[in-house]
Amino acid sequence: MYDVLEIHNIGMKYQSLDGEINALEDINFSVRDGEFLSIVGPSGCGKSTLLSIISGLLPATKGRVLLNGEKINGASRKIGYMLQKDHLFDWRTIYKNVLLGLEIQKNVSPKAKDHALAMLKTYGLDEFRNAYPSQLSGGMRQRVALIRTLVTDPRILLLDEAFSALDYQTRLAVNDDIYAIIKKENKTAILVTHDISESIAMSDRVVVLSKRPGTVKNTYQIRLSCDHRTPLSSREAPEFRHYFQDIWKELDVHV
Ligand code: ADP
Ligand code: MG
Repeated sequence: MYDVLEIHNIGMKYQSLDGEINALEDINFSVRDGEFLSIVGPSGCGKSTLLSIISGLLPATKGRVLLNGEKINGASRKIGYMLQKDHLFDWRTIYKNVLLGLEIQKNVSPKAKDHALAMLKTYGLDEFRNAYPSQLSGGMRQRVALIRTLVTDPRILLLDEAFSALDYQTRLAVNDDIYAIIKKENKTAILVTHDISESIAMSDRVVVLSKRPGTVKNTYQIRLSCDHRTPLSSREAPEFRHYFQDIWKELDVHV
């Protein structure tokens, strides 16, 4: 497997009225094609900043990000972004919401429309295509948000605390749901979360960031003995709690 994304010496300083905020320092890691990578770190350590830099929306003050060996300059359609809020438009039907990313990219062709409809069908949303977001559960809305991102066929998916707004039970179910779709579509994904369990359950590798300025403290390759790995079955694996304890210690959480 080759590295689809390379992050070299990324640093970020924000200028604010109170002076300079050093958000990230000397971040280095790569993401392999098809890999699911999580980034965990304390609140305010620069996780969202890092994703914004990777997405090309925010220029870093130092370093560079390469996608397939090419420097990312500005917002790239090769990168799909999913946030904590699903940002569905309440006045648009599910189908029209799913077309939104394509519309923004001025890429709505008959073929693209067929693809969108096929994805709605594959992922059990066909009967809701003329419904409005308010008629769907939080979990279903996140599925729609993911499909909207996937129909633009991004090379890599960025998920910023994408499950944090959901209650615990729903979050576990949505973890499984979104994971299955990402795997079926063969996507590479980076998930930012402050939830240690979620990071282990979802990913092949966990990158732990220090408190601000965020630096890479450690990286864990997650190897779990379960036959058919899903986020839910991962949580049952005997190794799970060892990873949890290690990362918990690494994060040095105090009350
Ligand atoms: P996280 O997602 O890990 O909680 P963020 O990336 O949102 O952290 O923020 C990292 C630090 O940078 C925080 O101290 C935050 O207050 C600061 N920050 C974020 N965005 C801006 C901005 N636009 N201007 C100034 N400071 C910012
Ligand atoms: Mg954040």
